[in-house]
Amino acid sequence: MNAGELLSLCKRRGFIWPSFEIYGGVAGMYDFGPLGSALKDNIVAVWRDVYKRGEGFVEIDSPTVNPEAVFRASGHMDEFSDYVVHCKECREPFRADHLVSDLHANPDTLDAAALKGLMVEHSVCCPDCQCELGSVEEFNLMFKTSIGPGSNRAGYLRPETAQGIFVNFPHLYRYNREKLPLGVIQHGRGYRNEISPRQGMIRLREFNMMEVELFVDPDDKSWPRFPAVAEETLRLVPEDGAERELSLTQALEGGVIANEVLAYFIWLTKTLLERMGVDGGRLRFRQHLKDEMAHYAMDCWDAEVLLSYGWTEVVGIADRGCWDLSQHAAWSNEEMSHFKRYDEPREVERVALKAKYRELGPLFKGEAKEVARLIEERGPEDVSGGVLKVEKDGAELEIPETLFETVTVREKLAGERVMPHVIEPSHGLDRIFYTVLEHAYRREDDYTVLALRPEMAPIKAGVFPLMARDGLEEKAKEVFALLTAEGIEAFYDESGSIGKRYARMDEVGTPWCVTVDYETLEEERGLKGTVTVRDRDSSEQRRVAISDLPVTLKSLLKGADFAKI
Ligand code: AMP
Repeated sequence: MNAGELLSLCKRRGFIWPSFEIYGGVAGMYDFGPLGSALKDNIVAVWRDVYKRGEGFVEIDSPTVNPEAVFRASGHMDEFSDYVVHCKECREPFRADHLVSDLHANPDTLDAAALKGLMVEHSVCCPDCQCELGSVEEFNLMFKTSIGPGSNRAGYLRPETAQGIFVNFPHLYRYNREKLPLGVIQHGRGYRNEISPRQGMIRLREFNMMEVELFVDPDDKSWPRFPAVAEETLRLVPEDGAERELSLTQALEGGVIANEVLAYFIWLTKTLLERMGVDGGRLRFRQHLKDEMAHYAMDCWDAEVLLSYGWTEVVGIADRGCWDLSQHAAWSNEEMSHFKRYDEPREVERVALKAKYRELGPLFKGEAKEVARLIEERGPEDVSGGVLKVEKDGAELEIPETLFETVTVREKLAGERVMPHVIEPSHGLDRIFYTVLEHAYRREDDYTVLALRPEMAPIKAGVFPLMARDGLEEKAKEVFALLTAEGIEAFYDESGSIGKRYARMDEVGTPWCVTVDYETLEEERGLKGTVTVRDRDSSEQRRVAISDLPVTLKSLLKGADFAKI
């Protein structure tokens, strides 16, 4: 199929519109129209259902403008960039790695010099005007702004929602009664000033993310629900590039996936995407190469779907280790670690410094106690050249070793502090949105059907009078009002032939159409008459009493067999 055909349907029927079109548009931005916003909400609803209801995770919502400190700590200020090259003649910017994609297996792993070298070696020129290209420069992808008047407080539009979760870890940890594991989700806008947005909704400058951050004990990456799915299989493309179908157990035992919790969330991603309508036959998980991995990741897998654009990443599932929390702890001086209580208190021996109170007294008088505390807070590793340096009232104090001794102490420890590790499934909503549409798109001759899963369909039922006369319209409007009042998204349509109205609903993925005909009117008055319900996928029709219609449609939405209603 051709992405252009689908995108034009999306535009015509109100799924998505290029943003700011009346002013010439802005590349890499899309608006969701009425049907698009409904489909987007349905995608978020499934994700929320899987993680919040299914896994018991909690949801937060944090600002999209963040102060610079957040991204200094997270590494985005230094690392979140692509290489850009401009045409010397037409000044058009290009992503350097895209220009050499046919010349190298993994061009996004190359640095500026290597990219330039490859371009010179192969005489790569401007794809638009064939003129000479300039130097390769690093370009940070974050949008910069300022917080408040003047420009002394820099702010950045968040390139991911994840940091909003990490900076809130101390609150979230307390909210969770200081226990791990702790799962937190957040969805919302992410902003990346992509150098050359292309491929419709795949590479946007403002997009929607649904992120999940699971904080776990670094020494325990098991997952209670893992045994139930251990024999399920995944289509994997590990680092070695050899695609294979492995069970989760095989992937773990063979060391292909780093740990159980990561394996579980890769599997959960598969079920989530399939529930949304992604075709399982066009879905695989590809492991990042070591030099492709983001600066924070220990192991990373992309859920890739096959689209008309080729294999495309829609979800990234990473073991981020303790990178984020350690960084924020170091930069903010906040406690971000977890107190891991032992089953039984452990008796340990420790070499410690003990202050010589008798010597300190005459020297420090009233402050001797405070100096003793400062000494005993430190360990033998802090003593250098016979001197211990401590900080007192903002000044450095040098304490000679005649004022303390090294002793061995035995103590009971109730637990220890550890930095949690983070497992992150990060979903690109817009890419999933496009995939759901492309995988549902069927076109025969000039008839188009979007075979959306009923749960995802923006409209669940089209409601029509057979003809717009003889009181059929009033009755159909009553049916429409009944369905709407029951929370079923319905669409009333009386214009054109009934065939045209079915076709219009098929084209936007509506799974059922309800038609009020003369039989309805002939039957009992009130809502006791029957209507026809037509199934989009089989084109079969059944008669259902109007009073039963909401219950029947709700059971169909839950997966009941149309042939049995
Ligand atoms: P990342 O944090 O780069 O792993 O991104 C997480 C997910 O966001 C990816 O799997 C994509 O689905 C999506 N994504 C990343 N960049 C873009 C973009 N420029 N436009 C649309 N979606 C994106």
